[in-house]
Amino acid sequence: MNIGIVGLGLIGGSLGLELRGLGHHVLGLSRQKQTCEVAQEHGIVNQASIEPSILRMCNLVFLCPPVGQIVSVAQQIEPYLNTQAILTDVGSVKGAICQTLTKLWPRFVGGHPMAGTAQSGILAAEPDLFRHRPYVLTPIPETDPQALALVSQIVDSLGAKRYICSPAAHDRAVAWISHLPVIVSAALIRAGGQETDPELAQLAQSLASTGFRDTSRVGGGNPELGRMMAEFNQDELLFCLKIYQQELNALIEKISIGDWPGLENYLAMTKQLREHYSLD
Ligand code: NAP
Repeated sequence: MNIGIVGLGLIGGSLGLELRGLGHHVLGLSRQKQTCEVAQEHGIVNQASIEPSILRMCNLVFLCPPVGQIVSVAQQIEPYLNTQAILTDVGSVKGAICQTLTKLWPRFVGGHPMAGTAQSGILAAEPDLFRHRPYVLTPIPETDPQALALVSQIVDSLGAKRYICSPAAHDRAVAWISHLPVIVSAALIRAGGQETDPELAQLAQSLASTGFRDTSRVGGGNPELGRMMAEFNQDELLFCLKIYQQELNALIEKISIGDWPGLENYLAMTKQLREHYSLD
């Protein structure tokens, strides 16, 4: 199959490597000429260009630019697509994208591969990134069933664990397990940074170990990605943050009044709840 990839970075490049390995002919479109050259030199694509006409022969096109640019990039490439082509995206938020792009291109299927590393750009592309990782497809009632079937088949061929749900369910779920943790972890780092005694602050920094490492990791990541999550999933993130705030208030109350059995029960419940999450 001729497969187009628009936006040759970590996700687009990793898809290219994988799809080429599966025997597909991969055509890349990116913003910078240099990115296209690197993608060709590293065998990530068969051919790459900054000209959207490269997509004319593609049966399937993956949109992989930053999430805030997916809709505008789709509008730019639309005149160059083969009328039978299927279009899909990899954006981390789906609500804002799926309705708009299904109207623009009736053979559109929303998608989100839940795989990544701390790196970005074409040189961060790596093989096997999607294997055993969740890959969510988010059809809406208007989605073409044939397009969904083809994208599902490609996702399965990547070795990913495919999930299908609505864009709204996706956005709420990722707010709970991805976007809320980033904001909570950022607040945790910032709270520690409020220590006014410089010697004490230094002591805390020196004593920090695995507990702080695990809880601060996502809050200390790429600020641009964190901002995008909040900007494009604002309603769902706010919903989750308000519930989190209630939980924090409940904990403050228990600790203020010295309700130690209550606190222990609370922590026993969270220990059990955590076991329900898939954390491999
Ligand atoms: P990335 O490494 O920064 O790659 C994005 C690439 O898009 C850049 O290398 C850039 O290439 C290209 N680009 C930017 N504007 C463009 C345009 N107008 N037209 C064509 N190409 C353009 O980012 P990423 O991590 O791969 O993320 C890409 C998408 O995957 C996002 O929508 C994100 O939500 C989603 N996603 C990310 C992760 C993750 O963990 N990183 C996981 C799942 C999904 P040039 O060098 O040519 O400018």
